[in-house]
Amino acid sequence: MSVEQAPVQRADFDQVMVPNYSPAAFIPVRGEGSRVWDQTGRELIDFAGGIAVNALGHCHPALVKALTEQANTLWHVSNVFTNEPALRLAHKLVDATFAERAFFCNSGAEANEAAFKLARRVAHDRFGPEKHEIIATVNSFHGRTLFTVSVGGQPKYSDGFGPKITGISHVPYNDLEALKAQISDKTCAVVIEPIQGESGVVPADKDYLEGARKLCDEHNALLIFDEVQTGVGRTGSLYAYQHYGVTPDILTSAKSLGGGFPIGAMLTTSELAKHLAVGTHGTTYGGNPLACAVACAVLDVVNTPQTLAGIKAKHERFKTRLEKIGQEAGLFTQVRGVGLLIGCVLSDAWKGKAKDILNAAEKEGVMVLQAGPDVVRFAPSLVVEDADIDEGLARFERAVGKLTQG
Ligand SMILES: *Cc1c(COP(=O)(O)O)cnc(C)c1O
Repeated sequence: MSVEQAPVQRADFDQVMVPNYSPAAFIPVRGEGSRVWDQTGRELIDFAGGIAVNALGHCHPALVKALTEQANTLWHVSNVFTNEPALRLAHKLVDATFAERAFFCNSGAEANEAAFKLARRVAHDRFGPEKHEIIATVNSFHGRTLFTVSVGGQPKYSDGFGPKITGISHVPYNDLEALKAQISDKTCAVVIEPIQGESGVVPADKDYLEGARKLCDEHNALLIFDEVQTGVGRTGSLYAYQHYGVTPDILTSAKSLGGGFPIGAMLTTSELAKHLAVGTHGTTYGGNPLACAVACAVLDVVNTPQTLAGIKAKHERFKTRLEKIGQEAGLFTQVRGVGLLIGCVLSDAWKGKAKDILNAAEKEGVMVLQAGPDVVRFAPSLVVEDADIDEGLARFERAVGKLTQG
């Protein structure tokens, strides 16, 4: 028995939704692997991956199985009780990383909110209230809550909402001297995206992360890696810190962790975790059985030598073809990124026009992303089929051809 659904169109968005987004003209209704179909039955290849979320594409059988089995078992109990999927997921994350403790929430912003609160709490407990300063990087992105937009520090996200959280400073990314000049004994934490995602897919230099680690240790500050975008296999390592060989004190994860089901996690050591004692922090949904059961299934598929090696191979497949397309069309000056987080930097002639390229790509049946106005970003499924890569990039090439030939 199915209930008749009222028909809805893209135009309804402008009538009934808060206008904080400007979605594409078509509405995706179904997905399978790296293919998506819209309301008219048109098929698209998905290299956007729900913004680095659909780690295993759409409706991956292992995730559908985990979700439906859990849906028939137990949905929600709150944190007044623990639950089996949450404990299993915490074990998997602890076994696979530096971390000894996990805190679950529902988004990247919330994972960062927990990380920043933990860092301040630790410093407060150990050294007193003076040590509360957080150093972040220019053009970073950490989410949209008031604390996280204050730490992100980009005026377009943080201005006009009243007083910001204070005690936060910003230094240029990949500039160790600038960090060295800013860090002090009042610093409680330094937060870095190992690859700046939203602002252009900019990978950190290894020296920079190593230097940041050393400076934090010298000043009793915690090193936080925001791996909301880089985590869960995106770089070809389970977490980007493993790719770089630099271990943070606190790591945040979300996006790909749930493969499309909302979940976030903050990972840390036992020594630090104990500062969030009973009652100091929490969330109603955090560690929800549905989310955790799906995330367990995501990790089981992603955290295998085959999947991780496949991501590195697929990177090369994307990069080689994108460099060729970019050169022939005079479109890109550089194709950068690690694993399946790839940014194509637009040439001077195309600066500011990433959105036009997205739109042209969509018309040819391929979904891509931008990362700021000057970078076209690819964040596809980590198990995207080679045939889908080839077909999607052929479509992308056609789109670019039409655009550059007027
Ligand atoms: C997307 C993102 C966030 C925010 O995650 P939400 O789930 O949107 O709250 C935080 N940090 C980074 C690096 C991100 O890419």
